[in-house]
Amino acid sequence: MGTSTIAGLVGSVGAVLVLMTTSLETRAPSSQTAPPSDSAAPQTTGFGIPIEQVQIKTTKISSNFYTLEGRNNSGVLVGPDGVFLVDSQEAELAEKLEAAIKQISDGRIRFLVNTHVHLDHTGGNGHFGRMGVVLMAHEELRARLAQHNLSAGGVPEWRPPAPVVALAMVAYRGLTTVRMNGDEVRLIPAPFAHTDGDTLVHFMVADVLMMGDVFRMSGFPNIDRNNGGTVKGTIAALGTAIDAIGPNTKVVPGHGAVADRAMLFATRDMMIAVRDRVAQLVRQGKTPEQVVAAKPTSDYDAYVPGGTASNADRFVRQIYAELVGESTN
Ligand SMILES: [Zn+2]
Ligand SMILES: [Zn+2]
Repeated sequence: MGTSTIAGLVGSVGAVLVLMTTSLETRAPSSQTAPPSDSAAPQTTGFGIPIEQVQIKTTKISSNFYTLEGRNNSGVLVGPDGVFLVDSQEAELAEKLEAAIKQISDGRIRFLVNTHVHLDHTGGNGHFGRMGVVLMAHEELRARLAQHNLSAGGVPEWRPPAPVVALAMVAYRGLTTVRMNGDEVRLIPAPFAHTDGDTLVHFMVADVLMMGDVFRMSGFPNIDRNNGGTVKGTIAALGTAIDAIGPNTKVVPGHGAVADRAMLFATRDMMIAVRDRVAQLVRQGKTPEQVVAAKPTSDYDAYVPGGTASNADRFVRQIYAELVGESTN
């Protein structure tokens, strides 16, 4: 399985660190309706910047594929058949996102797929739904948005059900393919990973894979257990991604800079190693505090992009909770 080493991780990291400054993960949850993003996430660069000041940064990845980065990454395939959009970002950014799409296309947005339920990826759904865009999502994602749903990271903040116009018109549980603009867009369900309704979006011709928050270049993995996420499923989803793509495929994380398959290998190896260390400590009867204090991520702290003590500890606690079978909401 090759290049799964810390050295590989370091090599990929160097190129992206400078870009981390534009990756805004969260802001403090302030009200019931505020987009929670990954609310339990610690501070990252840009934390606290008012959303009004967030600009959409457009980057051409291939001849007809672009990433659009606000606080997180959207992606668009453009061409004569219209626009295929991945993730709608926070509701307050939807108009800026639409304007950015019009800069690189004729503005006919045909489809929108959400990688997962969090409002930094689905908040603009209503805006695009009202424009007549066909929304697509995993059935579990649709079901969660359709009812009172818990924000990311277990923050006790319940959001109201989304209106029907913001819900997927096309929902799926299996591999789903959209063919347009000369490309084959594969929607690959990756359940029980970051959440229970994750989708990986693979543009076969553009050679781009969008991972949502199953893979991030902004801190240690965040497993949203309250929305059905699991460490085990995230490791499996990284394997699905690795198997689906080639060495030159552009891998777009939910947050942070574009990466590659080598980084997926390195991330998966890191997750397995940290999980195994936590498992050993659990077998020794350690408490969650003792496990965190043992710093099971220490070999990787310097190499994970955006890694902090805070998001490392969060990741360790999520592993611990899963291993000991703690219940979730
Ligand atoms: Zn996110
Ligand atoms: Zn997320």
